[in-house]
Amino acid sequence: MSIEKFSVEKVLSVHRWTPTLFSFTLTRPAHFKFAAGQFARIGLKVKDDLVVRAYSIVSSPYDETLEFFSIVVPDGAFTSNLQHLQVGDELYLEKIPYGFLTLARYQLPLPQDLWLLATGTGLAPFISMLQDFATWENYQQIYLVYSVRTVSELAYVKRIEEIALSFGEGHNGFKFVPIITRDPHAQLHDRLPILIENGELEAAVGQQLNAASSHVMLCGNPQMVDDTKEALKRRGLTMNRRGEGNIAVENYW
Ligand code: NAP
Repeated sequence: MSIEKFSVEKVLSVHRWTPTLFSFTLTRPAHFKFAAGQFARIGLKVKDDLVVRAYSIVSSPYDETLEFFSIVVPDGAFTSNLQHLQVGDELYLEKIPYGFLTLARYQLPLPQDLWLLATGTGLAPFISMLQDFATWENYQQIYLVYSVRTVSELAYVKRIEEIALSFGEGHNGFKFVPIITRDPHAQLHDRLPILIENGELEAAVGQQLNAASSHVMLCGNPQMVDDTKEALKRRGLTMNRRGEGNIAVENYW
């Protein structure tokens, strides 16, 4: 990995949600342009090696800083070092962003109802998209569905409320739907593919998935992405290719 592909950026803040979940912000160089939903490649010097990982960007394309949401992977070469991050530390940021999980990829069906389905840190790209007024203008219904194991892992809830108030002012089609899979008392506690199959997700948002109107984005656990994709296909939805179709996906790890 050639170091010239990277710029060196400073850590501006670190927020710890739980012992294994944290968010951090970096300085944003003027050359770093991205679309909401894309990811950055971040590098960390471990001994003499540059270890690089992909991170979806939480911040909006208009923000002056770059925010990321991370889990600590036990014994992971990257995050077990990154978890000790402090304000003022330096990280490497690859100069160009990556990824195709962006709303611009949808041409048909025309935007109507948007389903943003995340597990864990896969929430990141959706927070970015929701901080773009165009998202709120283009979609009549927006459902943000966020699956975590325990309620303590439900990060960003306050931020989501604030975003809905400031960006979605006057928009009455937004619903935030948490799923807490290890809490049998939670209103929704089954995994996403099951909730699609048994109709509970649609009941919770008050609308049916529909091949003629739904844009569905999946981000997070790779097995969730695969299983949910199949559940959606069984409902008649199709993968978005060359602009056409309902489903767009990103594995977060
Ligand atoms: P996770 O296991 O991805 O769980 C988060 C949510 O996704 C939970 O509600 C979980 O439900 C659900 N889920 C898991 N598998 C699913 C499936 N096949 N279909 C539908 N839903 C599913 O938890 P996490 O805390 O985000 O990550 C767990 C581990 O993944 C970490 O400890 C780490 O080792 C690894 N990870 C690695 C990276 C990386 O960058 N390498 C990034 C994130 C996570 P259940 O409670 O039913 O399992």
